[in-house]
Amino acid sequence: MQKLAIILPCYNEQEILPKTIKTIDKLLNKLINAKQISPSSRICFVNDGSKDKSLKIITDICSENKHFCCINLSRNFGHQGAILAGMNEISADIYVTIDADLQDNPDCICEMLNKINEGCDIVYGVRDSRDTDSWFKRTTAVCYYRLLKFLGVNIVYNHADFRMMTKRAVETLKQFPERNLFLRAIIPLVGFKSAQVYYDRTKRQAGESKYPLPKMIALAWNGISNFSIVPLRLVTFSGFLICFMSFIFLCYVIYNWSAKGTIVGWASLVTIITIFSGVQMISLGIIGEYLAKVFIEVKKRPLYIVESKINIDN
Ligand code: UDP
Ligand code: MG
Repeated sequence: MQKLAIILPCYNEQEILPKTIKTIDKLLNKLINAKQISPSSRICFVNDGSKDKSLKIITDICSENKHFCCINLSRNFGHQGAILAGMNEISADIYVTIDADLQDNPDCICEMLNKINEGCDIVYGVRDSRDTDSWFKRTTAVCYYRLLKFLGVNIVYNHADFRMMTKRAVETLKQFPERNLFLRAIIPLVGFKSAQVYYDRTKRQAGESKYPLPKMIALAWNGISNFSIVPLRLVTFSGFLICFMSFIFLCYVIYNWSAKGTIVGWASLVTIITIFSGVQMISLGIIGEYLAKVFIEVKKRPLYIVESKINIDN
């Protein structure tokens, strides 16, 4: 029987944690009793520098129930780093990552296990609909997926970070030494046989989202700039286009100068200078963004730092 590790990244989740603990424990016991997974399977919370009572709640349950374990990070590293810490620091045969707020349906884990038993190495949890999202989140998400597709980035539509992976897939993931993490685009690069499991994502039942707009924009930009060089190509392309347009404009200016004398309009001049300075600034900015990524990558700083571990028995 295979050892399953259920990894839950957790940042200031004291309101929802008691319910999460109950739900996931019930699920784990059901799977163990049905002999679908080994009794040594674990529920692993990764405490991502919570400032509320999350760590205390997790520590208490770990001392009461040996199915629970904890990886406590030294500060807040972000959702992606926390997930990676869970997969790196615990040894298991199968890993599943799921948000601690239970917005993703934990019952899907049974279906995911079936897919793994059928020979898949990666099973993606995919949201059926986005009815529970605000209009803004729904629209921006759809536009973002379309944009990624246009830029040639391969990600599973409507899949976030609820997924199951075999040990083999996780070991392969470790070969990607990226500092700018965007797991949902890295994991399809791992390859192997994969499948999708569909579920309805519910509203958050307690606490608030830990992904405010600036954090969401940063993650979204990581998705584009880590996996696509198309924005850089667009800069080059726009450079050529602008040169071509300038050449036509130059012909027009020369014609005006020779035919009608030099009555060059102030307005057109200012407009051109403004537009082209804007385009140049944007182009420099895009190049700078990629340069910044290289800057971060070469430093090879750790993606997470473990402060303490509870009940981790590898
Ligand atoms: N999370 C984390 N570190 C962070 C932000 C979030 O570990 O810096 C966890 C959070 O506790 C939750 C999951 O990542 O379990 C997803 O966050 P959230 O539910 O707030 O995101 P949303 O569902 O609103 O996109
Ligand atoms: Mg959530």
